[in-house]
Amino acid sequence: MRRDKVFRFVILTFAIGAFIGLIGGLAFGGGSGRSTPRQSAKTSDHSQADATDPSADTSTIYEPMTPERAKAIGANEMGRLLVLMYHHFGPEEAEWTRTPANFRSDLALLKAEGFYPVNVRDLVTGNIDIPAGKTPVVLTFDDSSSGQYRILDDGAIDPDCAVAIMQQAVDDGDWASRASFFCLIDVDSRDREIFGQESVRKEKLRNLVDWGYEVGSHTVTHLDLSKASEEEAVKQLAQSKSILEGLIGNSYEVTSLAIPFGSYPESDSILAGGRYEDITYAYTAALSLGAVPCPSPFSTEFRPLHIPRIRGSADFITDAIKALKKNPGMRYISDGDPITISAPHDLPTELGKLPDDLGRQIIRY
Ligand SMILES: [Zn+2]
Repeated sequence: MRRDKVFRFVILTFAIGAFIGLIGGLAFGGGSGRSTPRQSAKTSDHSQADATDPSADTSTIYEPMTPERAKAIGANEMGRLLVLMYHHFGPEEAEWTRTPANFRSDLALLKAEGFYPVNVRDLVTGNIDIPAGKTPVVLTFDDSSSGQYRILDDGAIDPDCAVAIMQQAVDDGDWASRASFFCLIDVDSRDREIFGQESVRKEKLRNLVDWGYEVGSHTVTHLDLSKASEEEAVKQLAQSKSILEGLIGNSYEVTSLAIPFGSYPESDSILAGGRYEDITYAYTAALSLGAVPCPSPFSTEFRPLHIPRIRGSADFITDAIKALKKNPGMRYISDGDPITISAPHDLPTELGKLPDDLGRQIIRY
């Protein structure tokens, strides 16, 4: 469409929308017209969580992406992004423990620095549906301890657990309920078995999925895949997925795996797919350790079974952000349209190349 036609289309769409809104308002006594709810203080249902998320609005009309628009946004969807790794939450900061206050400041910093969350699954499928100008950040949580998600005796969510802190960030705006949780199932510490609190584990898993978060496997027993027999590894990769899917129900599929200790098996092939008794599995994403920003999923540099993660603690996060600011050409900047891939013609060689067979519209400028 030519530019003037696009303009007319937008005006017409707006006029029709306004007319329908007016009729709707009169018919239902809305009075104030549009009454899209803002986030309630306690986000407890998915439709509400998405009410202010532009990506969830199916009526969104994307203006066709052009090189001019991509350039004006500074889009670079071949750039690098952050994948952060968190473990436990508690009153004392420690190597693998973040305090609630520090986690709140991490989220505030990420928001202020232009980041926006996506799940691991969305990263590997390239479904990066975030506002124009933002950089994706993937928050990942290993070991499923109760500090990540705790329900109090009165049924309310503990406001100091990681999930509540993230939901608050959503309610405050400019954030979405996206993160990936990697659960353990059978370990010595009961507190680390699917967030502790056995009587509410199903409820927790289902809530997470309903709200938009992802649940993934961290094996059954935190198995060291570099030392385990192939038979044991395959068994745990299959069982952990099957147990989580059974608890979540609704045909949910577990497709992401956080590698315990970051210790890989000899061959990636047992991660990519396998079978134990009547359970088949196929992990399309596996997360390792490492201290570098993650390549774009559209780059030839991206290895979905070796996604590097940066530790979720103060210095690691600020250092990573500083490094991206020092080299702005290396940073992923979204064009705001999840369908197209926009990037400058001239890219640093470290960012790799766009494969030929992506099957998406590519905009270069
Ligand atoms: Zn772990």
